[in-house]
Amino acid sequence: MDEQWLPMIDSNRCTGCGECIAQCPTEALGHRNGKAALVHPHLCIYCADCETLCPVGAIQLPYLICKLDPNERDNS
Ligand code: SF4
Ligand code: SF4
Repeated sequence: MDEQWLPMIDSNRCTGCGECIAQCPTEALGHRNGKAALVHPHLCIYCADCETLCPVGAIQLPYLICKLDPNERDNS
């Protein structure tokens, strides 16, 4: 895989509670300067658990939004 999509952590919002670090299934997250950080980005499987559980909404996973071409839609 040439490119990897990664969660974005807003350090201004993060309280450093550690919840995402404890729950990340691959231990991709860790503490850095008292805030959550993606310390092992290559381990991230983009499961979105951290985004879901963060109590202050400090983590976001970017998603690609695609518009379906009507001509390609299956009308059956
Ligand atoms: S769960 Fe949210 S507030 Fe807590 S350490 Fe992770 S990013 Fe920061
Ligand atoms: S998306 Fe999943 S694997 Fe990646 S950092 Fe968040 S909890 Fe961990």
